[in-house]
Amino acid sequence: MSIKNKILSRVGLMFIIATAAIITIVSINFREYGIGAAEDKASIIAELVKNGLTAHMVNGTMDSRDTFLDGISRLKDVEALWVVRGDSVSSQYGPPRASEVPRDDIDRLVLKDGEIIEKLDESSTGAKLRVTIPYKATTNEIAKCLDCHDSQVGDILGAISMEFDIKSIRDEGLNTIIKIILTVLVAIFLIIILTNRIINPYLELFESLKNSLSGASKGDFSKSLQSSLQDEAGEMVKCYDQFLKKLDNIFGQIDKKLRFFVSYADRSSDTMQESTEIVTEISNIYQFKKAIEQDVSKDDIYKRLAYIIKEKFMIENFTFVEIESDTLIARNVFQEGKLFMCDNKIFGEIERCRAKRTGNKVMSSDFHSICPSFSCGEDCDKEHICIPISMSGQIGIVINMVFESEEELEEKKGHIPYILNYANEAAPVLETKRLMQMLKESSLKDAMTGLYNRRFLDEYVEKLQPQILRQKSSVAIFMVDMDHFKMVNDTYGHDVGDTVLKELSKILADNVREGDLVVRYGGEEFIIIAHNIEDEENTISLAEKLRSKVEEKSIDIGNSKTLKKTISIGISLFPKDNNSIWQAIKYADLALYEAKTSGRNRVVRYYEELKEKSGY
Ligand code: GH3
Ligand code: MG
Ligand code: MG
Repeated sequence: MSIKNKILSRVGLMFIIATAAIITIVSINFREYGIGAAEDKASIIAELVKNGLTAHMVNGTMDSRDTFLDGISRLKDVEALWVVRGDSVSSQYGPPRASEVPRDDIDRLVLKDGEIIEKLDESSTGAKLRVTIPYKATTNEIAKCLDCHDSQVGDILGAISMEFDIKSIRDEGLNTIIKIILTVLVAIFLIIILTNRIINPYLELFESLKNSLSGASKGDFSKSLQSSLQDEAGEMVKCYDQFLKKLDNIFGQIDKKLRFFVSYADRSSDTMQESTEIVTEISNIYQFKKAIEQDVSKDDIYKRLAYIIKEKFMIENFTFVEIESDTLIARNVFQEGKLFMCDNKIFGEIERCRAKRTGNKVMSSDFHSICPSFSCGEDCDKEHICIPISMSGQIGIVINMVFESEEELEEKKGHIPYILNYANEAAPVLETKRLMQMLKESSLKDAMTGLYNRRFLDEYVEKLQPQILRQKSSVAIFMVDMDHFKMVNDTYGHDVGDTVLKELSKILADNVREGDLVVRYGGEEFIIIAHNIEDEENTISLAEKLRSKVEEKSIDIGNSKTLKKTISIGISLFPKDNNSIWQAIKYADLALYEAKTSGRNRVVRYYEELKEKSGY
């Protein structure tokens, strides 16, 4: 119910209650007035009749008393009037006439008790008051009853009964009530008109304020107040509108500025709500960034980003494909869920990945089979979204997300701006970690050959030695040196010398197992640490294989010239020869020296006498 209807209904109710109260009071008053007037009339008539009858008696004209009584009974509102004779009068003057015999119990009771009896008889059609008054014997100046009656003072000589019609008074009351009701109806009508004229503008202002506040509570500050009022209410409208404009401006600015920090999909026109959500998002992203900055490895960062995508955005199947910027080698670095449906060819040729190639988000809902590398197969109902993440100006990561259905994709695609917020924060941190890793690797690797260097060997040996001793396994150590290498430099120059060294490195690296380690120990000296050596024979045959591979190789040195070189290898076994690797390396060096001195292009297994021989 509107406030206007509420006011009107309440005022109306108040009027109705007041009217009902007035009508009740008026009705009671009129009734009491009617009865009171009839009673007064009854006592006057009773007195009049008594005196009249006394006069008739004294004058001896009692026979004509009916004419007297008839005249009295014609008075206004007197319906009936009769006089009854008491027992003492009957016994003195004989039985009463028929008209003077008590007509009912009231007459008889009044004659007996000497008390006035009144009886009101009301119905919807009329109202009658019956009054019966006893005549008692008295002795005073006017009525000297005992002069004629053989009675005592107080004896009941007779009684007079009258019936009055008080309907006219009741009708008068009814008329008054109708007038009151009509007055009230007119008053209500006038009040409605007044309410419309005077209260309406305030009520409209109230409605307008209600709408405006309801809008403002939802962040819509555009609903200004409309009012033609010129009084204090008009002043209030102006102040309110200014305040609203200010709020609209402030929240609009806050919202705009906050959007600068994070991507945010428009959800509603509620700028207040939006600002709160953006601030929460910024705070979450800040926490995320702080956490990943303290993470040790790239894997930790990927795991944290994956946690956000899975737990916060409820995405079940996604994969991070990392792309190395210089080599363009792609790797699957993290996978959540079973669904990774990209063709494996993208790892060899990353340009096949549409997101990487275009640098734009790729969604299967935009266009059927948008990316041919999404090898879902015939009748496949899976959908995908791929988001490329930029690192130092190039696409460094592609986040591939796979959905079970188009509905799921539609439901989740709204999260993409938020996922991007997190991924974009992670990207520079990942890049820093990548560069640091590269830096570390470059300090441990030889730039020319790509093999590990001596520094790496130091770190490696430190970990390897206790591990081998604990596992009770063994490794073979090959100390490799190119024969007469100086001559290459001297004859063809250092560039050719470098080419030969690179070629040698490649032969060595290609002909040992993946877990074996090839280190450029210095100049043209190399150390190989070969694992899982079954016996000495095996070890020597591996060294022989390397030696002969080098011997066989025709190295292209430009200008259509080739060169053949040989190597010498000294072998020791750890821990068989010595339970210190460094010592075993030294023994391999002694064996190499032996290989050199005994003619070069050969393999020598270390033996005890070599120590003595070299004066070690
Ligand atoms: P030997 O058979 O006794 O080993 O004879 P060699 O000539 O190989 O003798 P040595 O091992 O003493 O010679 C090493 C030479 O390798 C000396 C140095 O000029 C050359 N060398 C060391 N590092 C490099 C390099 O990085 N590039 C080139 N081109 N030459 C290098
Ligand atoms: Mg040499
Ligand atoms: Mg040397």
